[in-house]
Amino acid sequence: MIIAVDGPSGSGKSSTARGVATRLGLRYLDTGATYRAVTWSAVDRGLDLDDTAAVAQRARELELEVSTDPSNQFVIADGTDVTAAIREPRISEVVSKIATNLDVRKELIRRQRAVIDAAQSSGGIVVEGRDIATVVATDAELKVHLTADQDARMSRRAAELESGSVTAEQLRDQIVRRDADDATVSQFLVASDGAVTVDSTHLTLEEVVDVISRLAKE
Ligand code: C5P
Repeated sequence: MIIAVDGPSGSGKSSTARGVATRLGLRYLDTGATYRAVTWSAVDRGLDLDDTAAVAQRARELELEVSTDPSNQFVIADGTDVTAAIREPRISEVVSKIATNLDVRKELIRRQRAVIDAAQSSGGIVVEGRDIATVVATDAELKVHLTADQDARMSRRAAELESGSVTAEQLRDQIVRRDADDATVSQFLVASDGAVTVDSTHLTLEEVVDVISRLAKE
């Protein structure tokens, strides 16, 4: 069983996908964490992020472990626990640039597919990202495109960040900018054929998890 959950930043993807995995006893893969880990490593080494060949090489060489336990998420990059570091604004601000590097995508998709294959022996996996239904796991049994309007996405991001660390305007700017950056790889944001669109704007997390879990059992 593979459940694909795609959607923009702040749509509630991560909490939703983790909640569904926990509810159904499945593994969970946050593909965004793989792009963030490569970004962290490139930044950590002081690479020129416009040097696509050097960044792609880094992606291929990086030793990466991403936990698939929905209740114990961690990311280890070249032996360093980067679970918190990959969420820092300095990474969020440049991750879209790394995600438009096609050789990085090729390498990370290969690794994501290996994780998905390995999870099949333990019942299956919920995979969240931008291109899961369209590219990474086109054979997923359930494809969900999660959406939420911009205000809902903004207030969710605000709740995630430390209170007072950024203003509402900065937050809106960040979301608008990341949507625009991500749109440069817009084919990854288009809902695939056969995907069910779930608008989470007016739903609680519990309700979204209910809806998707029910669809998975149909
Ligand atoms: O999901 P999250 O916001 O952590 O993803 C970080 C970035 O990684 C996204 O803004 C997007 O640029 C990229 N990404 C991607 N394809 C995926 C997952 C994430 O391009 N499957």
